[in-house]
Amino acid sequence: MTPDFDLIVVGAGINGAGIARDAACRGLRVCVLEQGDLCNGTTRWSSRLIHGGLRYLEHAELGLVYESLREREALLRIAPHLVQPLRLLIPIYRGGRRGRWLIAAGMRLYDWLSWGKSVPKHEMLDVAEALKELPALRRDGLIGAAAYYDGQVTFAERLVVENTLAARAAGADVRTYSRVDRVLTADRSVRGVRYTDLRTDRQSDLTAGVVVNAAGPWVDRVLGDVIRPPHRFMGGTKGTHIVVPAIPGQPKVACYIEAESDGRPFFVIPWNGMLLIGTTDIRFDGNPGEAGADADEIDYLLTETNRVFPDAGLDGNSILYRYTGVRPLPRKEKKDEGDITRRHIIKHHRRVAKGLYSVIGGKLTTYRSLAEEVTNRVVRRLRHAGPKCRTAQLPLPGASVDLPTVVDGLDACEFISPESRQHLLTVYGSRALEIRDLVVANPRLGDEICPHSHAIAAEIGFVYDHEMPTTLADVLLRRTMIGLSADQGRAALPKALQIARRHVGWSAARSDEEERRYLREIARLSG
Ligand SMILES: Cc1cc2nc3c(=O)[nH]c(=O)nc-3n(C[C@H](O)[C@H](O)[C@H](O)COP(=O)(O)OP(=O)(O)OC[C@H]3O[C@@H](n4cnc5c(N)ncnc54)[C@H](O)[C@@H]3O)c2cc1C
Repeated sequence: MTPDFDLIVVGAGINGAGIARDAACRGLRVCVLEQGDLCNGTTRWSSRLIHGGLRYLEHAELGLVYESLREREALLRIAPHLVQPLRLLIPIYRGGRRGRWLIAAGMRLYDWLSWGKSVPKHEMLDVAEALKELPALRRDGLIGAAAYYDGQVTFAERLVVENTLAARAAGADVRTYSRVDRVLTADRSVRGVRYTDLRTDRQSDLTAGVVVNAAGPWVDRVLGDVIRPPHRFMGGTKGTHIVVPAIPGQPKVACYIEAESDGRPFFVIPWNGMLLIGTTDIRFDGNPGEAGADADEIDYLLTETNRVFPDAGLDGNSILYRYTGVRPLPRKEKKDEGDITRRHIIKHHRRVAKGLYSVIGGKLTTYRSLAEEVTNRVVRRLRHAGPKCRTAQLPLPGASVDLPTVVDGLDACEFISPESRQHLLTVYGSRALEIRDLVVANPRLGDEICPHSHAIAAEIGFVYDHEMPTTLADVLLRRTMIGLSADQGRAALPKALQIARRHVGWSAARSDEEERRYLREIARLSG
């Protein structure tokens, strides 16, 4: 009997979404099952950098750095509205663990590994030049800085959404709030999965020739009892970020700092009009969905940031919100957290279930190449004759029209404020023109509903009609990005709720439940 699908992908984080896009574009019949909303896991909780990973040079992971830098270029090309070049400074202090010559050598190697890149090469700065760019830096002991470029994806959530939209446009069947309960096998081959639609509580089976377990830090849980005796592939570490308001002398460039207490590098990044500071790296064995920040982690991030920006005066009250994610790393009992490779492994469980693959490890930056590698293996296994991978060239949906044309198109609409136009461009890229058309037809839809993000009324209906959210939290936190504002969308909530209620037809009780649910989700971020 023909299976329901060629490929079932478990998980719609960046890797699952990327695999679904690539496989669907190559003509495979794909189904994606995600237990929550799109981008429900680690991808949301990352530092949001599209980077080569300077730190990996210290571990001689030249291959990983080269691949990451190549992928950085690909993403700047296929998603210029979501991924932008970011200038970073590494301040160098007398007596630091990494001296000027070592940093300069690392910079040269980084440039060399990204030969032919579109962003400028590194520069070594003297004290005056460093302070010109980062006046708030601690001066005591400063002997210079290195400046270089990487990429930033302000809204990693949108990268997942757009990969999913592209997968759907190519025919993939994407089912959110659909939890895979077990992988089905027979005769040492995978047959499909049993899953529960969490909206109806109905359990069903789906069959497929190949199942790819892209469940991030949940990979072992999805495998369940398929592997006998049980084996743990994942050895996650958790990382916490804090979000604080812009500080005096707010850096326009990001700062890559060596922590004085343990020598670990961490980032202070201008992000979404605020500062994103992180991260930590601590072994974590619990439920990835329940990882939270410890007081020690918060203290570490505040203290180390104040050390380098002494006038920042950050304390617990400065924190707007925080988040913690679990890195889906390969299990390595004996290694230090920071030494565990960030390379991915694609594991074919051929001894127990031919056609079942798990994605172990990886970076947000390399999701596209990982997806290509996985899809190549799926295509070979299924003996599928389709087109070759084109995801390095095909623009994502929000990059289908070049940005200057989109800017002109938005500027022509007098009912949308300049701030809101910028927001629309950043979040939806060229698809903002579809939102503009809604406003042209009904100018009241151009009204701003969020004083922080400058999101407008039209977006709520637009994302409901085109981007498959289920809850209001999906709309605010993972589509319009209103929920990542300084007030986490509190000011926009009544209006957004009213529009959503009218648009979707929620009852008063459902509307109240949506509001409670949203407040519960953001309460978690407030700690
Ligand atoms: C603190 C931190 C900072 C980081 N910073 C960076 C960075 O700056 N740059 C970078 O390149 N990388 C970074 N990373 C790494 C990067 O974020 C991850 O490697 C990447 O996001 C993993 O994506 P994923 O799709 O594999 O997993 P996830 O994003 O976790 O997605 C897995 C999905 O599977 C779903 N799922 C789980 N179980 C089931 C089930 N039973 N049924 C259905 N669905 C299920 C989950 O709900 C989830 O949505 C960082 C990671 C952390 C933790």
